[in-house]
Amino acid sequence: MSYVQIAVDGPAGSGKSTIAKKIAERLNITYIDTGAMYRALTYKVLINNIDIENEDAIIELARKSKIEFLQDNIYLDNDIVNEEIRLPKVSKNVSYVAKIPQVRKILVDVQRKLALNQDVVMDGRDIGTYVLKDANLKIFLTATVEERSRRRYSELKNKGLDVTFDDVRKDIINRDKIDKERKFAPLIEADDAIVIDTTDLSVEDVVDKITSILEGGQ
Ligand code: C5P
Repeated sequence: MSYVQIAVDGPAGSGKSTIAKKIAERLNITYIDTGAMYRALTYKVLINNIDIENEDAIIELARKSKIEFLQDNIYLDNDIVNEEIRLPKVSKNVSYVAKIPQVRKILVDVQRKLALNQDVVMDGRDIGTYVLKDANLKIFLTATVEERSRRRYSELKNKGLDVTFDDVRKDIINRDKIDKERKFAPLIEADDAIVIDTTDLSVEDVVDKITSILEGGQ
């Protein structure tokens, strides 16, 4: 039996996780946030005071860590770290951890296993191009840098975090650059992905659009 796989990729703040979660709810299937997995490892790197440039130590840490995404929670060695992984210091460093090929291989292995025995909507950067290359539907979300920064800024402010718009914008631009320029599984649209620019669309508009594609509409 083969399971449904929906890949949702795109840069930071393009609306991936919000949209992917809603699609999963509508279809009543499992949502998997792969960015949360790279963030959880980055959080562990930081709390262990490992230098972000020490690739060998980071790979070693990845090998001996248990990182899982289950029922909307991200687990790091059996602890739920949903809040910790959203801290600005994690956002600032995560792309350096995620560009290490051996780290990606370890986490992609977990991601592929999650899609083996259930229907999934998976969001990330390389889902359509690498993790689930044969996904039934591949969506690539985009939006202008200004709009993506605005969304991320209000999200962090709503959580009570002390951030400036300029810092959020700089972080997004820097992460996009590292994610696009890395050699192994970079951020890029799959040839067969449907690209949706969400700049002027509401969440409901985007979800409706994807639902209609799934139902065989435009
Ligand atoms: O999706 P989110 O913004 O939480 O992802 C955080 C970071 O994790 C990204 O900027 C990227 O460096 C990395 N990532 C990745 N591949 C994925 C998902 C996330 O490299 N599939």
